[in-house]
Amino acid sequence: MNAAPLPTTPTRDAALALDRTDPLAFARSRFSLPDGVIYLDGNSLGALPASTAARVQHVVTAEWGRSLIRGWNDHGWMEAGANIGASISRLIGATPDSVIVADNTSTNVFKLATAALRLRPNRGVIVTEAENFPTDLYVLEGIAAVLGHEIRRVDRSDLTAAIDHDTALVVLTEVDYRSGYRLDMASITAAAHEQGALMLWDLAHSAGAHDVALDDIDADFAIGCGYKFLNGGPGAPAFCYVNRRLHDAARPMIQGWLGHAEPFAFAANYEPADGVRRLTVGTPPVVSMAALAEGVATFDDIEMTAVRAKGVELTTFFIGLIDTLLPDVGFELITPRSASQRGSQVTLSHEHGYPIMQALIARGVIGDFRPPNLVRFGLAPLYVRFVDVFDAVQHLVDIMATREFDQSQFHERRNVT
Ligand SMILES: *Cc1c(COP(=O)(O)O)cnc(C)c1O
Repeated sequence: MNAAPLPTTPTRDAALALDRTDPLAFARSRFSLPDGVIYLDGNSLGALPASTAARVQHVVTAEWGRSLIRGWNDHGWMEAGANIGASISRLIGATPDSVIVADNTSTNVFKLATAALRLRPNRGVIVTEAENFPTDLYVLEGIAAVLGHEIRRVDRSDLTAAIDHDTALVVLTEVDYRSGYRLDMASITAAAHEQGALMLWDLAHSAGAHDVALDDIDADFAIGCGYKFLNGGPGAPAFCYVNRRLHDAARPMIQGWLGHAEPFAFAANYEPADGVRRLTVGTPPVVSMAALAEGVATFDDIEMTAVRAKGVELTTFFIGLIDTLLPDVGFELITPRSASQRGSQVTLSHEHGYPIMQALIARGVIGDFRPPNLVRFGLAPLYVRFVDVFDAVQHLVDIMATREFDQSQFHERRNVT
Protein backbone atom coordinates (compact mmCIF):
# COMPACT_ATOMS: atom_id res chain seq x y z
CA MET A 1 0.00 0.00 0.00
CA ASN A 2 1.16 3.55 0.36
CA ALA A 3 3.79 3.55 3.14
CA ALA A 4 7.50 3.14 2.53
CA PRO A 5 8.06 -0.59 1.93
CA LEU A 6 10.23 -2.62 4.27
CA PRO A 7 13.85 -2.75 3.08
CA THR A 8 13.54 -6.44 2.17
CA THR A 9 10.51 -8.61 1.66
CA PRO A 10 10.02 -10.48 4.93
CA THR A 11 10.25 -14.24 4.72
CA ARG A 12 8.74 -17.06 6.75
CA ASP A 13 12.21 -17.72 8.14
CA ALA A 14 12.36 -14.14 9.37
CA ALA A 15 9.06 -14.71 11.18
CA LEU A 16 10.39 -17.90 12.76
CA ALA A 17 13.49 -16.00 13.86
CA LEU A 18 11.32 -13.38 15.56
CA ASP A 19 9.51 -16.16 17.41
CA ARG A 20 12.81 -17.63 18.61
CA THR A 21 13.82 -14.36 20.28
CA ASP A 22 10.33 -13.47 21.53
CA PRO A 23 10.55 -13.10 25.34
CA LEU A 24 6.84 -14.02 25.60
CA ALA A 25 7.03 -17.14 23.42
CA PHE A 26 6.76 -19.38 26.49
CA ALA A 27 3.26 -18.08 27.26
CA ARG A 28 1.70 -19.92 24.32
CA SER A 29 2.05 -23.19 26.25
CA ARG A 30 -0.42 -21.77 28.78
CA PHE A 31 -3.14 -22.31 26.17
CA SER A 32 -4.79 -25.25 24.52
CA LEU A 33 -5.08 -24.29 20.84
CA PRO A 34 -6.47 -26.62 18.19
CA ASP A 35 -4.14 -27.91 15.46
CA GLY A 36 -4.49 -26.38 12.03
CA VAL A 37 -5.86 -23.09 13.30
CA ILE A 38 -4.30 -19.63 13.26
CA TYR A 39 -6.32 -17.83 15.88
CA LEU A 40 -6.57 -14.09 15.32
CA ASP A 41 -9.80 -13.43 17.18
CA GLY A 42 -8.69 -13.26 20.80
CA ASN A 43 -10.15 -9.75 20.87
CA SER A 44 -13.61 -11.32 20.51
CA LEU A 45 -13.16 -14.58 22.40
CA GLY A 46 -9.86 -15.37 24.06
CA ALA A 47 -8.35 -18.83 23.59
CA LEU A 48 -8.87 -21.67 26.06
CA PRO A 49 -6.20 -21.77 28.79
CA ALA A 50 -4.63 -25.20 29.27
CA SER A 51 -5.70 -25.27 32.92
CA THR A 52 -9.37 -24.27 32.55
CA ALA A 53 -11.02 -27.61 31.82
CA ALA A 54 -9.54 -29.30 34.90
CA ARG A 55 -10.35 -26.32 37.10
CA VAL A 56 -13.98 -26.18 35.95
CA GLN A 57 -14.26 -29.95 36.35
CA HIS A 58 -12.95 -29.61 39.91
CA VAL A 59 -15.36 -26.84 40.83
CA VAL A 60 -18.29 -28.81 39.48
CA THR A 61 -17.55 -32.29 40.79
CA ALA A 62 -15.47 -31.70 43.92
CA GLU A 63 -16.70 -28.32 45.15
CA TRP A 64 -20.34 -28.23 44.07
CA GLY A 65 -20.83 -31.99 43.95
CA ARG A 66 -19.40 -32.78 47.37
CA SER A 67 -19.62 -29.57 49.36
CA LEU A 68 -23.03 -28.54 48.08
CA ILE A 69 -24.13 -25.34 49.81
CA ARG A 70 -21.15 -25.49 52.15
CA GLY A 71 -19.10 -24.46 49.10
CA TRP A 72 -19.99 -20.81 49.66
CA ASN A 73 -17.99 -20.83 52.88
CA ASP A 74 -15.55 -23.64 52.24
CA HIS A 75 -14.33 -22.76 48.74
CA GLY A 76 -14.40 -18.95 48.76
CA TRP A 77 -17.16 -18.80 46.16
CA MET A 78 -18.50 -15.52 47.55
CA GLU A 79 -15.08 -13.86 47.41
CA ALA A 80 -14.28 -14.89 43.82
CA GLY A 81 -15.37 -11.54 42.37
CA ALA A 82 -13.08 -9.58 44.67
CA ASN A 83 -10.20 -12.03 44.33
CA ILE A 84 -10.26 -12.10 40.53
CA GLY A 85 -10.75 -8.33 40.56
CA ALA A 86 -7.53 -8.04 42.56
CA SER A 87 -5.71 -10.15 39.95
CA ILE A 88 -7.06 -8.03 37.11
CA SER A 89 -6.06 -4.83 38.95
CA ARG A 90 -2.37 -5.42 38.20
CA LEU A 91 -3.13 -5.59 34.49
CA ILE A 92 -4.94 -2.24 34.42
CA GLY A 93 -2.88 -0.20 36.86
CA ALA A 94 -5.32 -0.19 39.76
CA THR A 95 -5.04 -0.86 43.48
CA PRO A 96 -6.24 -4.40 44.20
CA ASP A 97 -9.29 -3.29 46.17
CA SER A 98 -10.54 -1.02 43.37
CA VAL A 99 -11.66 -3.79 41.01
CA ILE A 100 -14.49 -6.30 41.32
CA VAL A 101 -15.77 -8.93 38.91
CA ALA A 102 -19.55 -9.12 38.50
CA ASP A 103 -22.23 -9.34 35.82
CA ASN A 104 -21.37 -8.54 32.19
CA THR A 105 -19.86 -5.52 30.51
CA SER A 106 -23.15 -4.01 29.35
CA THR A 107 -24.69 -4.25 32.82
CA ASN A 108 -21.54 -2.74 34.29
CA VAL A 109 -21.78 0.24 31.92
CA PHE A 110 -25.23 0.84 33.38
CA LYS A 111 -24.08 0.35 36.98
CA LEU A 112 -21.10 2.69 36.76
CA ALA A 113 -22.69 5.32 34.52
CA THR A 114 -25.66 5.68 36.88
CA ALA A 115 -23.36 5.69 39.94
CA ALA A 116 -21.42 8.51 38.27
CA LEU A 117 -24.56 10.49 37.41
CA ARG A 118 -25.66 10.33 41.05
CA LEU A 119 -22.42 12.16 41.86
CA ARG A 120 -23.19 15.00 39.42
CA PRO A 121 -26.92 15.62 40.04
CA ASN A 122 -26.90 19.16 38.64
CA ARG A 123 -25.38 18.36 35.25
CA GLY A 124 -27.48 17.10 32.37
CA VAL A 125 -25.05 15.96 29.67
CA ILE A 126 -23.27 12.68 28.90
CA VAL A 127 -20.49 12.94 26.30
CA THR A 128 -19.54 9.92 24.23
CA GLU A 129 -18.04 9.11 20.85
CA ALA A 130 -20.51 8.71 17.97
CA GLU A 131 -18.65 5.54 16.94
CA ASN A 132 -18.56 4.03 20.41
CA PHE A 133 -19.49 0.34 20.72
CA PRO A 134 -23.26 -0.07 20.33
CA THR A 135 -23.94 -1.52 23.79
CA ASP A 136 -22.38 1.54 25.43
CA LEU A 137 -24.55 3.83 23.30
CA TYR A 138 -27.71 1.78 23.84
CA VAL A 139 -27.25 1.61 27.62
CA LEU A 140 -26.68 5.38 27.76
CA GLU A 141 -29.81 5.90 25.64
CA GLY A 142 -31.80 3.83 28.11
CA ILE A 143 -30.43 5.81 31.05
CA ALA A 144 -31.24 9.09 29.30
CA ALA A 145 -34.78 7.91 28.60
CA VAL A 146 -35.40 7.58 32.34
CA LEU A 147 -33.17 10.29 33.84
CA GLY A 148 -33.55 12.85 31.06
CA HIS A 149 -29.89 13.45 30.23
CA GLU A 150 -28.78 14.77 26.87
CA ILE A 151 -26.34 12.42 25.14
CA ARG A 152 -23.75 14.32 23.15
CA ARG A 153 -22.39 11.91 20.52
CA VAL A 154 -19.36 13.48 18.93
CA ASP A 155 -16.62 12.65 16.49
CA ARG A 156 -13.28 11.63 17.95
CA SER A 157 -11.65 14.92 16.95
CA ASP A 158 -14.32 16.93 18.81
CA LEU A 159 -14.24 15.02 22.07
CA THR A 160 -12.47 17.38 24.41
CA ALA A 161 -14.19 20.44 22.94
CA ALA A 162 -17.58 18.81 23.63
CA ILE A 163 -16.92 18.50 27.38
CA ASP A 164 -18.19 21.54 29.28
CA HIS A 165 -19.63 22.61 32.62
CA ASP A 166 -22.92 20.84 31.89
CA THR A 167 -21.15 17.54 31.37
CA ALA A 168 -21.75 15.06 34.15
CA LEU A 169 -19.98 12.11 32.59
CA VAL A 170 -17.74 11.16 29.67
CA VAL A 171 -18.04 7.54 28.48
CA LEU A 172 -15.43 6.27 26.04
CA THR A 173 -13.88 3.03 24.85
CA GLU A 174 -10.09 3.25 24.82
CA VAL A 175 -9.59 1.07 21.74
CA ASP A 176 -12.14 1.32 18.92
CA TYR A 177 -13.55 -2.15 18.18
CA ARG A 178 -13.61 -1.50 14.45
CA SER A 179 -10.43 0.35 13.60
CA GLY A 180 -8.28 -0.46 16.63
CA TYR A 181 -7.71 3.30 17.12
CA ARG A 182 -6.46 3.95 20.64
CA LEU A 183 -7.50 7.10 22.47
CA ASP A 184 -5.16 8.97 24.81
CA MET A 185 -6.73 8.11 28.16
CA ALA A 186 -4.60 10.48 30.22
CA SER A 187 -5.31 13.66 28.28
CA ILE A 188 -9.04 12.97 27.85
CA THR A 189 -9.45 12.13 31.54
CA ALA A 190 -7.68 15.37 32.42
CA ALA A 191 -9.93 17.31 30.04
CA ALA A 192 -13.03 15.82 31.67
CA HIS A 193 -11.78 16.66 35.16
CA GLU A 194 -10.90 20.18 34.12
CA GLN A 195 -14.61 20.74 33.42
CA GLY A 196 -15.67 18.97 36.62
CA ALA A 197 -16.99 15.93 34.72
CA LEU A 198 -16.42 12.28 35.63
CA MET A 199 -14.76 9.77 33.32
CA LEU A 200 -15.84 6.18 32.62
CA TRP A 201 -13.55 4.06 30.43
CA ASP A 202 -14.58 0.90 28.59
CA LEU A 203 -11.49 -1.33 28.51
CA ALA A 204 -13.04 -4.18 26.48
CA HIS A 205 -10.14 -4.15 24.00
CA SER A 206 -7.49 -3.00 26.48
CA ALA A 207 -7.48 -5.26 29.54
CA GLY A 208 -4.99 -8.05 28.80
CA ALA A 209 -3.93 -6.45 25.52
CA HIS A 210 -1.62 -3.72 26.83
CA ASP A 211 -0.68 -1.84 29.97
CA VAL A 212 -3.30 0.54 31.34
CA ALA A 213 -2.67 3.00 34.18
CA LEU A 214 -6.08 3.76 35.70
CA ASP A 215 -4.82 5.03 39.05
CA ASP A 216 -1.95 7.04 37.56
CA ILE A 217 -4.18 8.90 35.12
CA ASP A 218 -6.74 9.33 37.92
CA ALA A 219 -9.64 7.78 35.98
CA ASP A 220 -12.90 7.70 37.91
CA PHE A 221 -14.55 4.53 36.65
CA ALA A 222 -13.77 1.72 34.22
CA ILE A 223 -15.34 -1.49 33.03
CA GLY A 224 -14.06 -4.33 30.87
CA CYS A 225 -14.67 -7.76 29.44
CA GLY A 226 -13.61 -11.12 30.86
CA TYR A 227 -13.87 -13.17 27.68
CA LYS A 228 -11.72 -11.17 25.25
CA PHE A 229 -8.00 -10.66 25.99
CA LEU A 230 -8.53 -11.99 29.54
CA ASN A 231 -9.35 -15.49 28.24
CA GLY A 232 -12.21 -16.14 30.67
CA GLY A 233 -14.37 -18.15 28.28
CA PRO A 234 -17.58 -17.42 26.35
CA GLY A 235 -19.80 -15.05 28.35
CA ALA A 236 -17.28 -14.75 31.20
CA PRO A 237 -18.18 -12.20 33.89
CA ALA A 238 -16.84 -8.66 33.50
CA PHE A 239 -15.09 -6.21 35.82
CA CYS A 240 -15.73 -2.81 37.37
CA TYR A 241 -13.11 -0.32 38.58
CA VAL A 242 -13.83 2.59 40.90
CA ASN A 243 -11.08 5.02 41.86
CA ARG A 244 -10.34 4.81 45.59
CA ARG A 245 -11.22 8.46 46.13
CA LEU A 246 -14.83 7.59 45.12
CA HIS A 247 -15.23 4.37 47.08
CA ASP A 248 -17.36 5.95 49.78
CA ALA A 249 -19.23 8.46 47.64
CA ALA A 250 -20.23 6.28 44.67
CA ARG A 251 -23.57 4.55 45.21
CA PRO A 252 -24.97 1.98 42.81
CA MET A 253 -28.42 2.34 41.32
CA ILE A 254 -28.95 -1.42 41.29
CA GLN A 255 -28.94 -2.01 45.03
CA GLY A 256 -28.67 -5.79 45.08
CA TRP A 257 -28.58 -7.76 48.30
CA LEU A 258 -25.02 -8.99 47.76
CA GLY A 259 -23.84 -5.39 47.49
CA HIS A 260 -25.32 -4.79 50.95
CA ALA A 261 -23.00 -4.22 53.90
CA GLU A 262 -24.42 -7.33 55.59
CA PRO A 263 -26.27 -9.53 53.10
CA PHE A 264 -26.94 -12.26 55.62
CA ALA A 265 -28.47 -9.89 58.15
CA PHE A 266 -31.41 -9.73 55.68
CA ALA A 267 -32.10 -6.17 56.80
CA ALA A 268 -35.18 -4.35 55.49
CA ASN A 269 -33.23 -1.45 53.97
CA TYR A 270 -30.18 -1.08 51.79
CA GLU A 271 -26.86 -0.14 53.26
CA PRO A 272 -23.95 -0.22 50.78
CA ALA A 273 -21.00 -2.51 51.40
CA ASP A 274 -17.59 -0.88 51.73
CA GLY A 275 -15.69 -0.15 48.53
CA VAL A 276 -16.32 -1.83 45.20
CA ARG A 277 -18.17 -4.78 46.74
CA ARG A 278 -21.28 -2.57 46.68
CA LEU A 279 -21.25 -3.03 42.88
CA THR A 280 -22.07 -6.69 43.33
CA VAL A 281 -25.74 -7.25 42.54
CA GLY A 282 -26.73 -10.88 42.97
CA THR A 283 -25.27 -14.34 43.36
CA PRO A 284 -22.03 -14.78 41.40
CA PRO A 285 -21.76 -17.39 38.59
CA VAL A 286 -19.31 -19.65 40.40
CA VAL A 287 -18.41 -21.97 37.53
CA SER A 288 -17.83 -19.06 35.14
CA MET A 289 -15.79 -17.28 37.80
CA ALA A 290 -13.49 -20.31 38.05
CA ALA A 291 -12.91 -20.24 34.29
CA LEU A 292 -12.21 -16.50 34.41
CA ALA A 293 -9.70 -17.00 37.24
CA GLU A 294 -7.74 -19.37 34.98
CA GLY A 295 -7.95 -16.89 32.11
CA VAL A 296 -6.53 -14.08 34.22
CA ALA A 297 -3.86 -16.46 35.58
CA THR A 298 -2.42 -16.79 32.07
CA PHE A 299 -0.86 -13.37 32.83
CA ASP A 300 0.90 -14.56 36.01
CA ASP A 301 4.52 -13.36 36.17
CA ILE A 302 4.13 -11.42 32.93
CA GLU A 303 4.53 -7.64 32.86
CA MET A 304 1.91 -5.78 30.84
CA THR A 305 4.63 -3.58 29.36
CA ALA A 306 6.07 -6.76 27.79
CA VAL A 307 2.61 -7.68 26.49
CA ARG A 308 2.30 -4.23 24.97
CA ALA A 309 5.76 -4.44 23.41
CA LYS A 310 4.87 -7.70 21.68
CA GLY A 311 1.48 -6.36 20.60
CA VAL A 312 3.22 -3.45 18.90
CA GLU A 313 5.70 -5.79 17.20
CA LEU A 314 2.96 -8.13 15.98
CA THR A 315 0.81 -5.37 14.55
CA THR A 316 3.84 -3.64 12.99
CA PHE A 317 4.92 -6.95 11.42
CA PHE A 318 1.38 -7.57 10.14
CA ILE A 319 1.13 -4.12 8.56
CA GLY A 320 4.59 -4.50 7.02
CA LEU A 321 3.55 -7.80 5.41
CA ILE A 322 0.35 -6.28 4.07
CA ASP A 323 2.42 -3.48 2.56
CA THR A 324 4.94 -5.77 0.91
CA LEU A 325 3.16 -9.07 0.11
CA LEU A 326 -0.39 -8.06 -0.69
CA PRO A 327 -0.76 -6.59 -4.15
CA ASP A 328 -3.10 -3.70 -4.79
CA VAL A 329 -6.34 -5.67 -4.77
CA GLY A 330 -8.67 -3.21 -3.06
CA PHE A 331 -7.66 -3.36 0.60
CA GLU A 332 -7.33 -0.30 2.74
CA LEU A 333 -5.61 -0.27 6.12
CA ILE A 334 -8.07 1.15 8.68
CA THR A 335 -5.85 0.75 11.74
CA PRO A 336 -3.52 3.69 12.43
CA ARG A 337 0.05 3.27 11.19
CA SER A 338 1.35 4.99 14.29
CA ALA A 339 1.80 2.25 16.90
CA SER A 340 0.99 4.60 19.79
CA GLN A 341 -2.46 5.16 18.25
CA ARG A 342 -3.51 1.54 18.00
CA GLY A 343 -4.37 -1.44 20.18
CA SER A 344 -3.43 -5.06 19.47
CA GLN A 345 -5.52 -5.30 16.35
CA VAL A 346 -5.27 -4.80 12.58
CA THR A 347 -8.33 -3.97 10.51
CA LEU A 348 -8.56 -3.80 6.73
CA SER A 349 -11.50 -2.74 4.63
CA HIS A 350 -12.45 -4.42 1.37
CA GLU A 351 -15.66 -4.37 -0.64
CA HIS A 352 -15.74 -8.19 -0.43
CA GLY A 353 -14.74 -8.21 3.25
CA TYR A 354 -17.39 -10.69 4.36
CA PRO A 355 -16.65 -13.53 1.91
CA ILE A 356 -12.89 -12.90 2.19
CA MET A 357 -13.08 -13.49 5.95
CA GLN A 358 -15.21 -16.62 5.43
CA ALA A 359 -12.62 -17.95 2.97
CA LEU A 360 -9.87 -17.27 5.52
CA ILE A 361 -11.84 -19.06 8.24
CA ALA A 362 -12.33 -22.06 5.90
CA ARG A 363 -8.53 -22.22 5.67
CA GLY A 364 -8.24 -22.14 9.47
CA VAL A 365 -7.28 -18.46 9.75
CA ILE A 366 -9.84 -17.13 12.22
CA GLY A 367 -10.49 -13.41 12.40
CA ASP A 368 -13.86 -11.72 12.11
CA PHE A 369 -15.97 -9.31 10.08
CA ARG A 370 -17.60 -6.04 11.10
CA PRO A 371 -19.99 -4.10 8.91
CA PRO A 372 -19.90 -2.50 6.51
CA ASN A 373 -16.74 -4.02 5.01
CA LEU A 374 -14.13 -4.60 7.70
CA VAL A 375 -11.95 -7.66 8.19
CA ARG A 376 -10.54 -7.63 11.67
CA PHE A 377 -7.55 -9.48 13.13
CA GLY A 378 -6.92 -9.49 16.89
CA LEU A 379 -3.34 -10.27 17.87
CA ALA A 380 -3.33 -11.62 21.43
CA PRO A 381 0.32 -11.25 22.51
CA LEU A 382 0.31 -14.28 24.82
CA TYR A 383 -0.34 -16.87 22.13
CA VAL A 384 -0.07 -15.38 18.64
CA ARG A 385 3.30 -16.04 16.97
CA PHE A 386 5.01 -14.05 14.26
CA VAL A 387 4.82 -17.11 12.02
CA ASP A 388 1.04 -17.15 12.50
CA VAL A 389 0.90 -13.58 11.23
CA PHE A 390 3.10 -14.49 8.27
CA ASP A 391 1.00 -17.54 7.35
CA ALA A 392 -2.26 -15.61 7.75
CA VAL A 393 -1.12 -12.92 5.33
CA GLN A 394 0.12 -15.61 2.91
CA HIS A 395 -3.36 -17.22 2.99
CA LEU A 396 -4.91 -13.83 2.32
CA VAL A 397 -2.59 -13.30 -0.65
CA ASP A 398 -3.59 -16.73 -2.05
CA ILE A 399 -7.30 -16.10 -1.54
CA MET A 400 -7.07 -12.83 -3.44
CA ALA A 401 -4.95 -14.32 -6.24
CA THR A 402 -7.40 -17.19 -6.83
CA ARG A 403 -10.55 -15.21 -5.99
CA GLU A 404 -11.47 -18.09 -3.69
CA PHE A 405 -13.85 -15.70 -1.91
CA ASP A 406 -16.15 -15.75 -4.96
CA GLN A 407 -17.36 -19.24 -3.98
CA SER A 408 -21.01 -19.08 -3.05
CA GLN A 409 -20.70 -20.74 0.38
CA PHE A 410 -18.58 -17.81 1.57
CA HIS A 411 -21.39 -15.35 0.86
CA GLU A 412 -23.94 -16.89 3.22
CA ARG A 413 -24.43 -14.65 6.25
CA ARG A 414 -24.33 -16.38 9.60
CA ASN A 415 -25.68 -15.17 12.93
CA VAL A 416 -22.42 -14.27 14.64
CA THR A 417 -19.90 -12.64 12.32
C1 LIG B 1 -17.20 -6.61 23.45
C2 LIG B 1 -17.58 -5.29 23.97
C3 LIG B 1 -18.57 -5.16 24.94
C4 LIG B 1 -19.35 -6.39 25.29
O1 LIG B 1 -20.36 -6.27 26.22
P1 LIG B 1 -21.03 -7.59 26.81
O2 LIG B 1 -22.00 -7.09 27.76
O3 LIG B 1 -19.94 -8.41 27.38
O4 LIG B 1 -21.65 -8.35 25.67
C5 LIG B 1 -18.79 -3.91 25.48
N1 LIG B 1 -18.09 -2.82 25.06
C6 LIG B 1 -17.15 -2.93 24.09
C7 LIG B 1 -16.40 -1.73 23.65
C8 LIG B 1 -16.88 -4.16 23.52
O5 LIG B 1 -15.97 -4.27 22.55
